[in-house]
Amino acid sequence: MKMNSKGRAVIISGPSGSGKGTTVKALLEARPELKLSISATTRLPRPGEENGVNYFFVSREEFQKKIENGDMLEYAEFCENIYGTPREYIEQCVSNGEDVILEIEVQGGMQVMAKMRDAISIFLIPPNRQSLEKRLRGRGTETEEVIRERLAQSYEELKCAEKYDYVVVCGEMSKCVSDILNIIDSEKLKSELMQDYIKENF
Ligand code: 5GP
Repeated sequence: MKMNSKGRAVIISGPSGSGKGTTVKALLEARPELKLSISATTRLPRPGEENGVNYFFVSREEFQKKIENGDMLEYAEFCENIYGTPREYIEQCVSNGEDVILEIEVQGGMQVMAKMRDAISIFLIPPNRQSLEKRLRGRGTETEEVIRERLAQSYEELKCAEKYDYVVVCGEMSKCVSDILNIIDSEKLKSELMQDYIKENF
């Protein structure tokens, strides 16, 4: 039973080390009909990352061109690289009635909130400071300098939690995933969105 035909953009932000990547993966496994936005970035691929799967890896010049063409829904500079969400895919999903996850940092998250008033915004946090540091170091692909830079950035990002509709604590994964799915499902039952359903059926 389909109740509202428009899909929703679901913004998921949170500091590096909050478990965003793992959460998004688990979320897509739990609900395969969710779509995932693939971002463009000027960052170099990490080992195992693939172009068009994890990101569209592009040069600064290519990124600049996309911005000038109006192809980006949002973009932001983060740790000396640019990251951005290609606009077209998001628009397609929303008009097809599909919910689409945008796993993006906070500056971009706020741009999307401003442009898409019905976007659902969720801020993920690790359970505490120790787990944040442990997760950041545990990735093992970054130099100490980069880790320090990302830690500092993470503490800054935590201050933005209040700008989001929801905050989810990312401790036990199954709980975190069900919290997010519950948010998405509840958002769809907001009374203003149910008016059409009521009109059509009664
Ligand atoms: P990473 O380099 O670890 O893959 O990502 C660094 C940060 O960039 C993460 O916080 C990630 O959520 C964010 N990010 C990834 N894609 C985008 C995007 O399209 N736009 C913005 N604003 N941030 C992004």
